[in-house]
Amino acid sequence: MNWITKFIKPKIKSLLKKKLSDSKEALWVTCECKNLIYKDELFNNLSVCPSCGFHHKLNCEERFKIFFDDKEYEILETPLPKDDPLKFPKYSDKLKQSREKTKQSDAILIADGMLDGIRITSGAQNFNFIGGAVGAASGEAFIHGIQHAINNKTPFIFFSCSGGQKMQEGAIALMQMTRTVLAVNELKKKNLPYIVVMTNPTTGGVSASFATLGDILIAEPKAICAFAGRRVIENTVKEDLPKDFQTAEFVKDHGGIDLVVERKYIKSTISTLLSIFLKKKEVKNISDLTDATNINETLQKTSKAV
Ligand SMILES: [Zn+2]
Repeated sequence: MNWITKFIKPKIKSLLKKKLSDSKEALWVTCECKNLIYKDELFNNLSVCPSCGFHHKLNCEERFKIFFDDKEYEILETPLPKDDPLKFPKYSDKLKQSREKTKQSDAILIADGMLDGIRITSGAQNFNFIGGAVGAASGEAFIHGIQHAINNKTPFIFFSCSGGQKMQEGAIALMQMTRTVLAVNELKKKNLPYIVVMTNPTTGGVSASFATLGDILIAEPKAICAFAGRRVIENTVKEDLPKDFQTAEFVKDHGGIDLVVERKYIKSTISTLLSIFLKKKEVKNISDLTDATNINETLQKTSKAV
């Protein structure tokens, strides 16, 4: 063995291997159903698997592109508090990597735009940014979004996707639960609609604060909507839990969520809801929509009709 076989060859091999796996990653996605799906094909289908219907995660910009009219919206600049207040080990490196990976300064983005001709403020969480965990920056972004909605008298629509609060920010992260709840309360005092779409997963502190306070709670199919994890509960209660425990469908059947709506119907469902809340023009496509008091029944009709 000489230095070429010992050092140069393995180096080239590892470089090639990395390059191959990068390009593979860029083109294909493996679904829960084990099918390999071409990434473009998946995105053209709103990132829903054409074979099994699994709703893949969207980042904030992907979400806004399929939600706002003509893919047009303005990302708002939100306050960015000082990083790493507790000097938590490796947290600043993690922040740096997440910023490079997502091109976002923190997990929540807020945008302003039109939804079927109605001006709205919307927010979304990016799971790729430290699991969508909420700390001071996400708290500030959410509150900024609510303030923007109040200032401009727009409804606020939020797409939640998070594992909970950032343990790296300790009590500061936990405080965001109270702060965001107070902000939602201010929006409600102004009689502005607040709709939450819970996407997979919506868990921990987020589900124990702003994500479950919507006037209407919508969830995407099979999304995990929970506070504590399944295993934690199983080990505590020492009982076998139902197979679909904590799925959107299970939570809806037990009264925790109003609607489970497929991604392709979310825009039309929210647009219908806003038309009712804001007493706008007649609702499109539904001739028998006259009773605005029974929203659940009405929306089930809407989902079927569109
Ligand atoms: Zn699939």
